[in-house]
Amino acid sequence: MDVFENIAEMQAYSLDKKSQGHIIAVVPTMGYLHEGHMALVAEARRHAEIIVVTIFVNPTQFGPKEDLAAYPRDRERDVRMCRQNDVDAIFIPEAGEMYPSDFSTWVIEEKLSPELCGKSRPTHFRGVTTVVAKLFNAVLPDVAIFGQKDAQQALVIGRMVRDLNFPIDIIIAPIVREKDGLAMSSRNKYLSPQERAQAPVIFRSLQAAQAKLTASASTDFAELQSEIIRQLEAGGGRVDYVEIRDAATLAEPGAETVRILIAVAVFFGATRLIDNVIAELKSKAKV
Ligand code: AMP
Repeated sequence: MDVFENIAEMQAYSLDKKSQGHIIAVVPTMGYLHEGHMALVAEARRHAEIIVVTIFVNPTQFGPKEDLAAYPRDRERDVRMCRQNDVDAIFIPEAGEMYPSDFSTWVIEEKLSPELCGKSRPTHFRGVTTVVAKLFNAVLPDVAIFGQKDAQQALVIGRMVRDLNFPIDIIIAPIVREKDGLAMSSRNKYLSPQERAQAPVIFRSLQAAQAKLTASASTDFAELQSEIIRQLEAGGGRVDYVEIRDAATLAEPGAETVRILIAVAVFFGATRLIDNVIAELKSKAKV
């Protein structure tokens, strides 16, 4: 397995693989890898011969009061996990390699980014789109794998790739969960034992709402939203948002909506967790 810290070396590697006719998949991550990330690697294997995992805790997607300095890092363990999972190369640049001190160019997606997480994290998606564009230019992949765990991120990246004509197929892989339903996340490490015991209420509340939505043709979304908030608060969470949206557009569900995204962000202590489920509206899906 090759490990690159330098953009030019990463590009040279990819150009060489491409010249040999290989398809390259990239799995962008912030490291502190877990089974959710490895599921993306497994998905990547289905689409490409060469798998590149990028590991970069991207400073520009953290707000000034967020957890950039505290974000968990374990380079040795990440490298070991990638090697064990047959990753071909890791791209793990320093911040200075990605952002020279006079960096001044941004990629901004304007329609989807201000919704959901964008309300409490107004500069987050600007950081995400910019770094993903840069990672695409460093790795030069044919395919990129993202997780449904970050549902809004997946939509924003899809829009960026379409709008800016990146010749890259975007694949979205399903959420990997712990046995008790908590979505795997590097940030779960922050949870105290008590918070960790409380956090599975997130998926329980989402599943209950999903079941209701799937069962009934007409639904009172406001009531459903209030019910999820009630359950999260009763379970010890502090709600940032609970949103019920069209899964394709993030708009309020309308007559044409067939897949509904139920997305939440909720604090347990100081740790902000996100999760989501999709409800297929059966009555409409058949039309
Ligand atoms: P992160 O390192 O948290 O920025 O995540 C890197 C990629 O892994 C993103 O595309 C995430 O959506 C994805 N990911 C993170 N956690 C999970 C999970 N539990 N299941 C599936 N994908 C995940």
